[in-house]
Amino acid sequence: MEVDKKEVAVIGLGPGGVSAAIYLKRYGMSPYCFEKELVGGKVNRTEKIENYAGIPSIQGPKLGMELETQLSNLDIKPIYKEVKRLSMNEDGTFHVEYGRGLSHDFFYAVLANGLLEKPFVIPGQEKFRSRGISRCAICDGPLYKNKDVAVIGAGNAAFEEALYLASICHHVFLIARRNEYRAQERIVRQFASLSNTEILSPYEAVSADGMDSISSLTVRNRQDGKERTLSVQGLFLYVGEVPNTSFLDIQGLDDDHGYIVVDERKMTKVKNLFAVGDCTDTLLRQVVTATSDGAIAATSIYQDYQRNRHE
Ligand SMILES: Cc1cc2nc3c(=O)[nH]c(=O)nc-3n(C[C@H](O)[C@H](O)[C@H](O)COP(=O)(O)OP(=O)(O)OC[C@H]3O[C@@H](n4cnc5c(N)ncnc54)[C@H](O)[C@@H]3O)c2cc1C
Repeated sequence: MEVDKKEVAVIGLGPGGVSAAIYLKRYGMSPYCFEKELVGGKVNRTEKIENYAGIPSIQGPKLGMELETQLSNLDIKPIYKEVKRLSMNEDGTFHVEYGRGLSHDFFYAVLANGLLEKPFVIPGQEKFRSRGISRCAICDGPLYKNKDVAVIGAGNAAFEEALYLASICHHVFLIARRNEYRAQERIVRQFASLSNTEILSPYEAVSADGMDSISSLTVRNRQDGKERTLSVQGLFLYVGEVPNTSFLDIQGLDDDHGYIVVDERKMTKVKNLFAVGDCTDTLLRQVVTATSDGAIAATSIYQDYQRNRHE
């Protein structure tokens, strides 16, 4: 059966996928939007977004809700299912398998599936079945109100979330492996200036201890080898992210690090397969770049559709 060229698979509904879906719909195309968790993707996991032009400050989960509303205003109904496999048919169209045994073929597809959190295991954490360890300050931070916590990581996300934790917790340690941080200077200064924060660098986590949940974290100075045991009830991990391409059954799409390579139209090395946002080999992984990518991919698709629609 011939596929409907107007139908486009959008895989993932973070800012990149939502932006692609909005533009596609407004161009008169039919986006099929697959999302395995929540509309908004990673923005749901941050307390505040303050660097998106036009919106001075917004809570991450609120932006997630606004993205959902925008889809609904355009009558786009997300398909809340995980895409398990994306492969190519002999005629160059895409076969998308999702949920439990469902599938659909598409002429165009947009990968907007973001990244996965990097696995990170601290010796000892199995003793208390990882209780007290989180990767989401906005979700779990309130559980540690007025308590002492540690954040592991040194990028923007680590410092931003540590700042939020400092506003509700008694004391926040930030453990960084190096003396140079990957975060913006302004936010590092802001965190360091607070009276209830402490940056430990260059330190690494040695072990986590506790009975039912975490009660302490032992860290080691990477220069002199001296250890220090911090009394903390919560541990937040912001150690980076890795590509998430296991569902892709098409070879040669990614670079040496696993990021999907795209051209200026956001098309991958495979014709009619596009990728946007964090999953691509981009210079900057932020809301603004993901939404811009989504708009460009949708426009490329529409232009291609217009050229080919009578073929
Ligand atoms: C703690 C933290 C703080 C941040 N702070 C800021 C900030 O202040 N400002 C800023 O601009 N950016 C910030 N970012 C970065 C920003 O959130 C991301 O750059 C942005 O969300 C990327 O959008 P995306 O659409 O590419 O991917 P994501 O937002 O990661 O969305 C991908 C979506 O795809 C879904 N998905 C994945 N695989 C599948 C599948 N197989 N089937 C179906 N669905 C799938 C996921 O569930 C997810 O919803 C922050 C990120 C974090 C983690």
